[in-house]
Amino acid sequence: MANVVVIGAGMGGLACAARLAAKGHDVNVIEQSHTWGGKLGIGSHGGHVFDTGPSLVTLPAVYRDLFLKTGRPLEESVNLVDLDIAFRYQFADGTVLKMPGVGVGACAQAIGDAFGGKSAEQWKSFMHRASQMWSATRVPFLESPLNGLSSLLSLSYRLKDLKSIAPGRTLRSLANHYFDDPRLVTLVDRYATYTGSDPRKAPAALATVPYIEQVFGAYHIAGGVRELGRALFERCESLGVRFTFDSSVTSINGGATVTSVSTSRGDVPAHIVVANADASLVYNSLLTNPISMDLTSRARKQLAGNTPSLSGFVGLIALRGHTSDLEHHNVWFPAHYDAEFDSIFGKTKMPVSDPTVYVCNPRDSQMAPEGSESWFVLVNAPRHDPDHGVDWSNNSLRDDYFAHVIGILKTRGFDIDERITWSSTLTPSDLESRTGAPGGSIYGSSSNGMRSAFLRPSNVTAIKNLYLVGGSSHPGGGLPLVAMSANIVAQLIGRA
Ligand SMILES: Cc1cc2nc3c(=O)[nH]c(=O)nc-3n(C[C@H](O)[C@H](O)[C@H](O)COP(=O)(O)OP(=O)(O)OC[C@H]3O[C@@H](n4cnc5c(N)ncnc54)[C@H](O)[C@@H]3O)c2cc1C
Repeated sequence: MANVVVIGAGMGGLACAARLAAKGHDVNVIEQSHTWGGKLGIGSHGGHVFDTGPSLVTLPAVYRDLFLKTGRPLEESVNLVDLDIAFRYQFADGTVLKMPGVGVGACAQAIGDAFGGKSAEQWKSFMHRASQMWSATRVPFLESPLNGLSSLLSLSYRLKDLKSIAPGRTLRSLANHYFDDPRLVTLVDRYATYTGSDPRKAPAALATVPYIEQVFGAYHIAGGVRELGRALFERCESLGVRFTFDSSVTSINGGATVTSVSTSRGDVPAHIVVANADASLVYNSLLTNPISMDLTSRARKQLAGNTPSLSGFVGLIALRGHTSDLEHHNVWFPAHYDAEFDSIFGKTKMPVSDPTVYVCNPRDSQMAPEGSESWFVLVNAPRHDPDHGVDWSNNSLRDDYFAHVIGILKTRGFDIDERITWSSTLTPSDLESRTGAPGGSIYGSSSNGMRSAFLRPSNVTAIKNLYLVGGSSHPGGGLPLVAMSANIVAQLIGRA
């Protein structure tokens, strides 16, 4: 039985802890904050409950596998709610597209109804291409350890697969190839932001993101998505995983092999360390031993060359009454989507002046008292970077930007000013201080760059028995991928 220390109780850390405990290891999770879940946060006020992180669950099969392999089925722990209409998209010209929760055919039909012409057929062709991409990448890439650019080379041996992935193409260029209607290009662009990226730079293979949503479904969890974290935390406890909260790991010790971690409460010996903390924190702050520093210099250099993913500006709003014509997930697109990506990834970073606004308005009696609504509003935002970009710790910026976002909703036909009974905001700087993610980056490194997926920090490090798990490492961020990352690490470590 190995003594495993997991640094961080985010979903990646919890999923890995559960799998390792089920394999017979002695697992100790050390978490800097007072609670589990990391970015899977929660807010509440007077009976209103808000998810402050993930609000959409896709690819539930990953969590079904996790729960089954660690004891009992997922459905015995949480109530997965499928949504008839998953998304209401409103475009700058006022067109509304109501996208069903599952089914490529049904989604194509909705697209045809909204945009007419050849749009439905074009969407089906695009999804067909995405299905080929999914088949080509799922097992050899997403479910396997990353071996840097050698992983790209190994994929390139299968020429048919390589052709379908289109490694030299961006998501934007793929969308332009398939669609005549620019609104469909805008729709596809949005999926690049699910990895915190710019569609003009992110690889075409991200077409798998809408494919996954439409084929495997878009889900809510009754009571809020954080309930998934609660279920996983409870699963860990039932397997004997120990938790230490309010304890920050300050260094990972040993030279070529890990021996212990130092924490704000003292040293903890470890045969194996699994770091769920952001990879850049691990490589730039937690490894201080000269031998470890030397061994990891290549990984550190590679990480420095990656573009960090975007962050988010969050508004939590309690509202009196019921808003007509809203679905569970609602997106309002601006006229010039590129301006958003320029603001976030361009040289002069600034809060986006005309952002895409996302509102999650759960029709869930556990989340809003009768006759009221609990809105989670999310706008993509540049990272917190007081030295070279935006200083999100500035309270007047926070208040002004929140008022600005409410004003944008008004211009798009949703005037809620008079109905707000309570509100609160979370900025990229709050996300940084709550989760330790530098700048509040949501997904670690972005997918900007054709080879970006192969240059993410690997789960295996150059230090023996030190592994990385979670959204800042391979295969990436988002609830399904962090749990896939945990599975890869648990398999690499093996049985006790
Ligand atoms: C606003 C927002 C919306 C999102 N929406 C979605 C969505 O709809 N669907 C979806 O699938 N995903 C979504 N995501 C992404 C998803 O939340 C993340 O990819 C995922 O939760 C990351 O999990 P993780 O375990 O990798 O990292 P984290 O959640 O960041 O966990 C890392 C943990 O490590 C701890 N830690 C850090 N440093 C130390 C240290 N030195 N010592 C001890 N502990 C430490 C942190 O406190 C934290 O608990 C969203 C994220 C945000 C912020």
